[in-house]
Amino acid sequence: MTDISKAPTIVDAASCGLAPGGISSHARQVIERLKDAGYTAYLVGGCVRDLILGKEPKDFDVVTQARPEEIRQVFRNARLIGRRFRLAHVHFGREIVEVATYRAAPSDGPEDDGGNVFGTLEEDAFRRDFTVNALYYDPDEGLITDYVNGLSDLAQAQLRVIGDPEARFREDPVRMLRAVRFAAKLRLRLTEDGRRLLPALGPLLQDVAPARLFEEVLKLFHTGNALATYEALCEHRLFEVLFPGVAAVLGPHADPDSLLARALANSDLRIAEDKPVTPAFLFAALLWEAVQEEAVHSIAEGAPPAEAWMQAAEHVLREQLRIVTIPKRFSVPMREIWSLQSRFERRAGRHAFRFLESKRFRAAYDFLGLRAAAGEAQESLFDWWTRFQEAAASEREAMVAALDGQAEKRPRRRRRRRAAGG
Ligand code: ATP
Ligand code: MG
Repeated sequence: MTDISKAPTIVDAASCGLAPGGISSHARQVIERLKDAGYTAYLVGGCVRDLILGKEPKDFDVVTQARPEEIRQVFRNARLIGRRFRLAHVHFGREIVEVATYRAAPSDGPEDDGGNVFGTLEEDAFRRDFTVNALYYDPDEGLITDYVNGLSDLAQAQLRVIGDPEARFREDPVRMLRAVRFAAKLRLRLTEDGRRLLPALGPLLQDVAPARLFEEVLKLFHTGNALATYEALCEHRLFEVLFPGVAAVLGPHADPDSLLARALANSDLRIAEDKPVTPAFLFAALLWEAVQEEAVHSIAEGAPPAEAWMQAAEHVLREQLRIVTIPKRFSVPMREIWSLQSRFERRAGRHAFRFLESKRFRAAYDFLGLRAAAGEAQESLFDWWTRFQEAAASEREAMVAALDGQAEKRPRRRRRRRAAGG
């Protein structure tokens, strides 16, 4: 129940377990300066939520009563950004603190389309998506202001939509993806009334701008909880809306043995180890099973393999772009990762040496590793390439020489299930 009284609850932050030590000194400074100039100002959103949960916030967002022009007058180092909704970026060397003016919910249209509709602190709280994202913290006084019972939801690990969930999801369908992302990342449980709506309202995501969905897909899969997020997206029937071609092949449920699940688990591990991850590789893994299904099917019907793979890649990508944009700078290397897979099978003569020198070798090799683990390429082939990279020059010659006479084996293809219904 969102039975909300008008008067906010104001609570001592320490009693909620908020450790002030984790706050950026720049954000703190911004709030102090705004308050000194006579405006109210708070930290809000993900950073307050994360601090209470004992997690390190990604960034610190400040909201204030001051209008954008007024914010600029307080800070020398502030720049106004945003065409429709103006907000200020206060620069401290490489750190930027985002400062927004309180705003009311736009009367219609999604969050993104809102123009400058300034509002009160209370209106600012109610236009936000989830109660745990609408907590205001004044680090100066050490107090949290809560209009929406967010503190009690947070204490009970509940993710609750502010207001009527159906209306809020219809107003901005991306909130459904945010719900799944926050639930997976923060181990919160979306309240039943919200959960129930996801399968039915999921298709509304088809009306969201594909460029915005690209940004959301990166947040879903590139923030260290990709596997759990994928499972939750499947559970709530949202994955099939974002990636219909892939879901038709993999089925509606997350398959832990699929190449995709392995790729996501692997990228979670890389993020945990502070290693880089790239959208090209992510999308290569996301779409691969659809490409491979289509190519194998065409080849079985007599199409020449090289052409079959190329056309499958092109077709799968084209269909995907109707829903989620994949900028060229990522889709080009993605397709390269796919097309290079056949080169691992050609090792004789100078082939292996030349391939090793190519710019995209490493990504293609990592992808081969996923295919081998998923039972779709030979482990022995992957092992050979692992050794070949590590070997000294003379040893490499010997490895290639040893291949002579030994016919290159074709990889065994895993039999695939076609999802019922699709
Ligand atoms: P994180 O940055 O850790 O992913 P966050 O909660 O800070 O999580 P942001 O996307 O940075 O998420 O948004 C900041 C705040 O803006 C949110 O906490 C929420 O209060 C509000 N907000 C963001 N997107 C929406 C939306 N689509 N609808 C309503 N409120 C939103
Ligand atoms: Mg944030």
